[in-house]
Amino acid sequence: MSNTTDVAIIGGGVIGCSIAYQLAKRGIGSTLFEKDRFASGASGATAGIVGPLRHIDAWVESTREMGLQSLELFPTLASELFDAGVDPQFRQSGILRVARTTEYAESLRGELIWQQELGLGVGWLNQYEVREREPEIAHDVIGGIFSPKEGYVRGKRYVDSLVHAARELGATCLEGVEVIGLKFDGDKVIGVRTHEGTVYAEHTILATGPWTGLNDRWINGKLPIQPAKGERILLRKTGFIPQCPVNGFEGYIIPQLDGDLLVAATRIENQFDEDVTATGVLKMINMAVSLFPTLAEAIYVCGRAGVRPMTPDGIPLIGPISGKEGLSVATGHDHVGIMLSPATGVMVADYISTGDAAPLNPYSLSRFEESI
Ligand SMILES: Cc1cc2nc3c(=O)[nH]c(=O)nc-3n(C[C@H](O)[C@H](O)[C@H](O)COP(=O)(O)OP(=O)(O)OC[C@H]3O[C@@H](n4cnc5c(N)ncnc54)[C@H](O)[C@@H]3O)c2cc1C
Repeated sequence: MSNTTDVAIIGGGVIGCSIAYQLAKRGIGSTLFEKDRFASGASGATAGIVGPLRHIDAWVESTREMGLQSLELFPTLASELFDAGVDPQFRQSGILRVARTTEYAESLRGELIWQQELGLGVGWLNQYEVREREPEIAHDVIGGIFSPKEGYVRGKRYVDSLVHAARELGATCLEGVEVIGLKFDGDKVIGVRTHEGTVYAEHTILATGPWTGLNDRWINGKLPIQPAKGERILLRKTGFIPQCPVNGFEGYIIPQLDGDLLVAATRIENQFDEDVTATGVLKMINMAVSLFPTLAEAIYVCGRAGVRPMTPDGIPLIGPISGKEGLSVATGHDHVGIMLSPATGVMVADYISTGDAAPLNPYSLSRFEESI
């Protein structure tokens, strides 16, 4: 392990790996430290939906722009990563969001108004059109939105493809190396400390997901990141695979390229463990069978849990930490970190290469009163 690098990135989830790749594309060297395996946290437990239209608050400009930018970036990024050697398994399959009550149909139709202004080809399907796409869907589905430009990616594969491509461009990505603290020169952060020694860096980036709220002891300050545990399961039913992710009010059924079905997700805020509970599994199975009754015959394959990094206002926390020169943070993406990872990587790499933090102002730590 070299003891110097341009940028030290702490955390080998989707955010850290996206930053490493974007820095490498700009010719900036980095060393990425992952204490466990790449994507061992939420990034591997994810459902992988790339669907800003449902999951981004349309009235919050910062996240709306980031979501739309990421949606635009994903297809090109996926083909770059594929060409570099590992297929991230991104599919621009479209997403189908269905309603089973008139109230929910009205709410979806309300969203359609602003969604159609985006020019992404989003449209309403009546119950017959929904059934034509998904013949096995529940009989009480009364219509839905189909959004053709959205899609999904396989979390672990996507992270592996970012690591592979970043390494090809010269980045050093290390697994099983835990950062145990920061190295300071006065208030300036000049690198990271590990059990294998200190690595000196011009910039250090905390991309430690939900652990960021624990690691803030390193700076004697407060980084307002809280855990939001989530579970998902895999089912298998030979001969049954939806054309695209299908979202009912309570969750998603997502086709996997190997023929399995990913069902997601639960949410338990302020809980930091990776146990898959009977309650969670039951909830997701009930949701899946309710949406596609034929799944009552599916085989239960496995379950997995991860911890999302949550901020108090639902907006990610990205940018330099004032009073700690050389240190930045990139986390707090909660339930949309896969989706927002391309834009996050680009924005952080642009900041490191230009020194201009202004584009990151909407995501700055200074928006919280209890900032350090
Ligand atoms: C069930 C579930 C479903 C989801 N579905 C979706 C979805 O459909 N679409 C979407 O966009 N998002 C989804 N998400 C959210 C998304 O997965 C997260 O927002 C995203 O993975 C967060 O990435 P991250 O890199 O910030 O954090 P993580 O993936 O948690 O990565 C942080 C990494 O930092 C490492 N680390 C921590 N401390 C240290 C240290 N001291 N030294 C070295 N390494 C350290 C950890 O080991 C970890 O690997 C889902 C999440 C869950 C749990």
